[in-house]
Amino acid sequence: MEKRQELYAGKAKSVYATDDPDLLVLHFRDDTSAFDGERMESLARKGMVNNRFNAFIMETLQGAGIPTHFVKRLSDTESLVKRLEMIPVECVVRNLAAGGLVKRLGVEEGKELVPPTFELFLKNDALHDPMINESLAETFGWATSEQLAEMKALTFKVNEVLKQLFADGGLLLVDYKLEFGLFQGQIVLGDEFSPDGCRLWDAETRNKMDKDRFRQGLGGVIEAYEEVGRRIGIGFD
Ligand code: 5GP
Repeated sequence: MEKRQELYAGKAKSVYATDDPDLLVLHFRDDTSAFDGERMESLARKGMVNNRFNAFIMETLQGAGIPTHFVKRLSDTESLVKRLEMIPVECVVRNLAAGGLVKRLGVEEGKELVPPTFELFLKNDALHDPMINESLAETFGWATSEQLAEMKALTFKVNEVLKQLFADGGLLLVDYKLEFGLFQGQIVLGDEFSPDGCRLWDAETRNKMDKDRFRQGLGGVIEAYEEVGRRIGIGFD
């Protein structure tokens, strides 16, 4: 496999073509962004930590029967993935109230959500990822109702696997965002799973151990990501 030209540079990852049209290289950079790219910073070790974190989670999910684009980790900061036709819809599950939900509905942060909620957002920075629903996604052709049903089922299946994984490490999986795409007509989990796209709190102290540390200027961002990784069995050295 040979890495070829850069196809796309996102806020934290760059995507490269390979000599195989079905495979891409994801490069996890040290860049961190918040508020739709309004705040950008480079955090040492972040690319390496998120690449290893993502590889571990994707392999765990794959092992639990969830189809993912992940093929293998290539280096400290790069992974090989299947090329998906991405669906521009973000799926969010929440187990506890935080972030956007608290702001939107005025509920208390930390309130347990029973059953967990499921929300859809349009992936569009210029519009600040607006909340959408199945009807809008279908009408505007972002996804079919069958695809949306599959994405919802898979997003909840991920919840069952990861809630337990993090609980075993003394962590609460508060919420998370997933993105899906199509590979040979099948819905497959794409993008990444790292503390950049989920909320994780220490189960005892409720300390935030995810990207909210960056968003809220709490410091110790990568140290927290590494601590989470260590607690679920990831080595970073
Ligand atoms: P909220 O709607 O509360 O802002 O986000 C819910 C969850 O989805 C959080 O764990 C948050 O990190 C994740 N999330 C939502 N939108 C994005 C996004 O555009 N990028 C990333 N990295 N995570 C997101």
